[in-house]
Amino acid sequence: MNINGLTRTIGLIGNPVEHTLSPVIHNNISKRMDIDSVYVPFRVEADGLDKAINGAYELNILGLNVTVPHKNAVKEFLVDIDGAARDIGAVNTLVRDESKHGYKGYNTDYMGLERQIKEDGIELSGRTVAILGAGGAAKAVTYMCIKNGASKIYILNRTIDKARQIAEDMYGLLNNDTSLYNSFCDSSKEMDKDNMLIKDIVVDRISSKEYIIPISLNDNNVITEDNLIAFQATSIGLSPNIDKVVIEDKEFYKKIAVGVDLIYNPATTKFMKLVNENGGKAYNALKMLLYQGVAAYELWHKISVPQEIIEEVYLELKRSVYPKDNIVLIGFMGSGKSTVGKALAERASMNFIDSDEYIENKAGMSIADIFEKMGEDEFRRIETETLIELRDNLSNTVLATGGGMPLRRENAILLKEIGRVFYLTAANRVIYDRVKEDTKRPLLFCDDPYSKICDLMKERRPLYEKACDVKVDTNSNDLEEVLAAIS
Ligand code: NAP
Repeated sequence: MNINGLTRTIGLIGNPVEHTLSPVIHNNISKRMDIDSVYVPFRVEADGLDKAINGAYELNILGLNVTVPHKNAVKEFLVDIDGAARDIGAVNTLVRDESKHGYKGYNTDYMGLERQIKEDGIELSGRTVAILGAGGAAKAVTYMCIKNGASKIYILNRTIDKARQIAEDMYGLLNNDTSLYNSFCDSSKEMDKDNMLIKDIVVDRISSKEYIIPISLNDNNVITEDNLIAFQATSIGLSPNIDKVVIEDKEFYKKIAVGVDLIYNPATTKFMKLVNENGGKAYNALKMLLYQGVAAYELWHKISVPQEIIEEVYLELKRSVYPKDNIVLIGFMGSGKSTVGKALAERASMNFIDSDEYIENKAGMSIADIFEKMGEDEFRRIETETLIELRDNLSNTVLATGGGMPLRRENAILLKEIGRVFYLTAANRVIYDRVKEDTKRPLLFCDDPYSKICDLMKERRPLYEKACDVKVDTNSNDLEEVLAAIS
């Protein structure tokens, strides 16, 4: 990161902020888009919030995220507030407004969840929704469900008064000149899947006061509908309390078609397991976190972050939240992946897998035969399928990969999901000297193998560099030096 006189500061205020993942999102977007900004967390006490906001403006800070416990209190120190944030009653993003000499507040949490469910293909229009929890996140979920045309919403909470309060607040919004009300007027011609106007569905339901139904967690059996979309928005089930869930009753889970847990650590929560075990499809909400960050970044920098960059940042985020203890070695043939990999595994008491051998065992034939009998496309498909299998199952393992493995973008992403990726590099001439006597390298069956190596390396080197976390020079042929560079 090159910080200079033009670098803009963005950041986070909250308390605590020590475990925030937001720097991973924002600093990775800046790095990948070559945007000169840096994201820093600031711990701010409740009684210093006004001074922090005013000070941030005077320090020319471009924008801030706001987290617990300031998401409500911050509203009184803003010069403007976006309609949705006003409706939800919580602000998590501040955008500098020079004309008003202060910050405008937004709620990108609800935008993040909306973007996640669209990407996951979850359609809320005309569906019955069950929301577990009635805290700040549940309120944003309720708002998002109404806005997207849900036909009925149950809010289940331990403290039923809080669920009732959200219902009251939302009924208020639907009867007034609010952002939510106006969004229905704007989309008044949009139909749900049963060809009803979304606005009419909502307005019908509100007038009967049977649109949002607050109930106690223990009374979940009053829900008679099935095919539910359920959102888990309580704090129960969060790591390390991974065996906990607010509703244990299997009958409840049988009614759920799609379940989204706002908790993303662990990756598969108990709520998600229960949804899956009872025939539903389950998601965690790490993408909500990603997209609330992307939405904030786009507001601050007045840009649109390209999807390819979002995918790369998502990978970095996953690696921060679910770190893996595997080591992946990539590089051209003759770069020493097998030799180094085996020595490393032995030294560190790790397992060793050679991806080519693994594929040969699985397919029951050699790589050369797979190429000949099934074609290169099929081989590449098997490679990707193998990486998905390894990603989901490997731990404490050194994986040495075939020379062509990281060339496909999909595979390069999977390799980083498996572990920390080391690219073993060597000069073309060194590689040639290492492999020239080897008769088992079909790629080098030609009149001028050295030129072939040079041509292939020209094409592959940038892809290896993009796919790796660390480059390790193996030109010296000194195994100890290479091992020291990796461990
Ligand atoms: P919050 O305002 O503190 O609300 C907590 C909720 O959990 C309340 O409904 C509370 O019920 C319930 N709860 C707490 N302890 C309980 C217990 N022992 N038994 C039953 N219910 C219990 O928190 P929040 O801001 O809404 O956040 C809720 C969850 O969503 C958190 O885990 C948070 O990490 C997650 N979240 C994720 C994202 C994301 O980007 N993926 C974004 C925001 C939030 P009572 O009302 O009865 O106390």
